[in-house]
Amino acid sequence: ESVVNRIAAGEVIQRPVSAVKELVENSLDASSTSVNVVVKDGGLKLIQVSDDGHGIRYEDMPILCERHTTSKLSVFEDLQTIKSMGFRGEALASMTYVSHVTVTTITKGQLHGYRVSYRDGVMEHEPKPCAAVKGTQIMIENLFYNMTARRKTLQNSADDYAKIVDLICRFAVHHINVSFSCRKHGAARADVHTVATSSRLDAIRSIYGVSVARDLMEVTASDNDPSSSVFKMHGYISNSNYNAKKMTMVLFINDRLVDCTSLKRAIEVVYAATLPKASKPFIYMSIVLPSEHVDVNVHPTKREVSLLNQESIIERIQTAVESNLRNSNS
Ligand code: ADP
Ligand code: MG
Repeated sequence: ESVVNRIAAGEVIQRPVSAVKELVENSLDASSTSVNVVVKDGGLKLIQVSDDGHGIRYEDMPILCERHTTSKLSVFEDLQTIKSMGFRGEALASMTYVSHVTVTTITKGQLHGYRVSYRDGVMEHEPKPCAAVKGTQIMIENLFYNMTARRKTLQNSADDYAKIVDLICRFAVHHINVSFSCRKHGAARADVHTVATSSRLDAIRSIYGVSVARDLMEVTASDNDPSSSVFKMHGYISNSNYNAKKMTMVLFINDRLVDCTSLKRAIEVVYAATLPKASKPFIYMSIVLPSEHVDVNVHPTKREVSLLNQESIIERIQTAVESNLRNSNS
């Protein structure tokens, strides 16, 4: 049974960056205003995510790492949400089958926190009282220690670390009211460090640089008929002279970081046709639509999603991007 669990867990957590994504999303779900990430050896030795969120209650600790247990399922309507998010209550559990997980947490009004370690879905010992300030710290040590083949495919720790930094930058662009940092273990300087702001442009400027931010314009799209509105898009796109090596598309759908290859391609097409020189643009987009319109199709752990009425949504976005590009350069 434990082999089956390990294989399933290895599917959910494919690389260090997948673990970081799950941990940061949990921190954000816990209403944190500060999320700090420390990584050692590309994440294989250590991933540590600390937040100042609402913490985990003592009585929830025994089942925290049981599969399909989640505290985020209180009302029946949430079933819709589960459907759209693919899987629930599986991330932490999965991590315990392929690493050593230690949780330190304190809830509001408590005098001390608790620390507990997990392995293979269960607590290794009773939660131990410990000093804690606010929120939760989760440590993932020796990721894939029991998956030799996986470890062999993850030999490039610089590459894995770069993926983690990229991920944190994306979260920081969307969650501008949260401060993020990401550093290598033992490093004095953080490689990403943002402060909470109310300006998206300021956030993009501090994360991706002045040359990107200078060049951005706002873009919006929604359904023409407001009464039947199924989607709203708001974003920033670069226009003429942003000279990147590759396109950056930061896409959030219903506040979840996702990829949508067909939307990305469609935008590339618009750039190529309107502004060939800016064919490697920076794009930030936030799309909101009813969760039953989002299909996490391929695999629950993939970031790739497809949308119901995808063609018409993509068309609307293409039109919006195109008219912005034309207006700004005419
Ligand atoms: P899910 O996020 O789908 O509920 P997870 O396996 O990611 O499942 O997490 C399990 C549970 O652990 C969450 O429902 C939440 O109650 C708790 N949890 C995990 N991380 C945190 C955190 N940083 N702060 C507060 N609670 C957390
Ligand atoms: Mg989660």
